[in-house]
Amino acid sequence: MYTNSRDDEVKLLKRLWTSQATICPKCKMAELEHLHKKAKKSDCDWKCPACGEIYRTISMLKELPNH
Ligand SMILES: [Zn+2]
Repeated sequence: MYTNSRDDEVKLLKRLWTSQATICPKCKMAELEHLHKKAKKSDCDWKCPACGEIYRTISMLKELPNH
C-alpha cells in the first residue's frame, strides 16, 4: 500500500480512477501523471514525475487488505 490505511488507499484509488489531480503519496513533491501518455485506453497506471514511483491501480486494488 502507498498510504497508511485501507480507507486512504481506497480514496487514492478513486482519485486516480476519476483522473483527479493527486499529489504523490510517497514523496508529496508532484502530481501524478498518466504512465502511458499516448495510449489513452490504459489510463489506470500512473507515475510520479518527481520520484518515479509507479502506481498500478489494478495491482493496488488486488493488494488491498481485507479490513
Ligand atoms: Zn513521488
